[in-house]
Amino acid sequence: MKIILLGAPGVGKGTQAELICDHFNIPHISTGKLFRLNVAEGSDLGLQVNEYIKKGKLVPDYLTISLVEDRLNKDDCKNGFLLDGFPRDENQAKELELFLNKKGEHIDKVLLIEVSEKVILDRIAGRRVCPKCGESYNVKYNPSKVGDKCQVCGSELIQRSDDKEEVVLERLAIYNKVTKPIIDYYNALGVLYRIQGEDDINDIFKSILAILETD
Ligand SMILES: [Zn+2]
Repeated sequence: MKIILLGAPGVGKGTQAELICDHFNIPHISTGKLFRLNVAEGSDLGLQVNEYIKKGKLVPDYLTISLVEDRLNKDDCKNGFLLDGFPRDENQAKELELFLNKKGEHIDKVLLIEVSEKVILDRIAGRRVCPKCGESYNVKYNPSKVGDKCQVCGSELIQRSDDKEEVVLERLAIYNKVTKPIIDYYNALGVLYRIQGEDDINDIFKSILAILETD
């Protein structure tokens, strides 16, 4: 089973990725992890990636694609894999399909987890963290029992700058812009499945399983 998982920040992609990979016993391949691993191992590609990361620059397409292809050639991907965070744009999606087609393979299913902007904002902009002990809360879903203080250590809770509403909205706008063409691309290939991501984690996983276990 070769799967791609798509979804905006805050839709709960990471949790579902783990559940899917455990269930089907396939590797969870995220470009973030792949970058870190290759940099840590000091591989040829890793050294090149590190040059961009050090400068705070975006890793160019050709490098990202080489890293992913290199990873997909490994033995543990023979029975399938789940890609998360890749492809990031339409060009990467086309390159990936080309690479798989050369091996007589293709992506089986693309899962798009969808959550309304309002819920994403509640989830992310509602986060509060304790700067001292690291405990995290959500003003709506998991508030501290002692108001705006940490119920573990009593410190004043803060909102991370990345979690501020205007930052989240900006990230969502960028996500929507680059992901729309990917969605259209896979939709045209007939492999796109939309999943309503506002339910309970287990219910979402059940709908995903229903999709993945149907031919
Ligand atoms: Zn604390």
